[in-house]
Amino acid sequence: MTRLDSVIRRLTAQRDLLDWAAREVSAQGLVLELGLGNGRTYDHLRARLPGREIYVFERSPAAHPDCIPPEGYLIVGDIFETLPLFTERFGVGSAALIHSDIGTGDEEANRVLAQRLSPLLETLLQPGGMIIADRAFDLPSCTDISSRTGVAEGRYFVYRR
Ligand code: SAM
Repeated sequence: MTRLDSVIRRLTAQRDLLDWAAREVSAQGLVLELGLGNGRTYDHLRARLPGREIYVFERSPAAHPDCIPPEGYLIVGDIFETLPLFTERFGVGSAALIHSDIGTGDEEANRVLAQRLSPLLETLLQPGGMIIADRAFDLPSCTDISSRTGVAEGRYFVYRR
């Protein structure tokens, strides 16, 4: 498989899962996008979930101008500082859906990141809420339901509280 094949596979899994989540997500609760990047997945989520409040977390916003969240919905800063403040503001269990795509090519760094991030995400998730992520998380109060989504094993991860 070429690197191009591999990118296409990853992005296809990402898009398929965002579509799946948009169908499955509870009607109540906030939607969180962790890592704005170019704004591609944010753009997809807002198109699939019109009318929903989507908060986006990013430490260095540099997205396509068409994909910048509206005033008040882009939370700028390191997620390990901004997420706890967000939880104080909106409360434990306020999120219906969290999409996390903040990893890099460094697998060890990604593992540490996921370990640190897991308790913060778990606190924010409402009962029945879902986390979709580009890597595995350690979430004792959630069930790994990746295999029920149709996505190939190990490509993208889905958890439900
Ligand atoms: N999903 C995005 C898209 O479709 O365009 C791509 C996201 S990109 C892979 C990851 C983003 O996460 C980067 O823009 C990076 O700046 C951001 N990021 C990584 N670690 C972060 C952290 N600790 N706090 C806030 N943002 C972070």
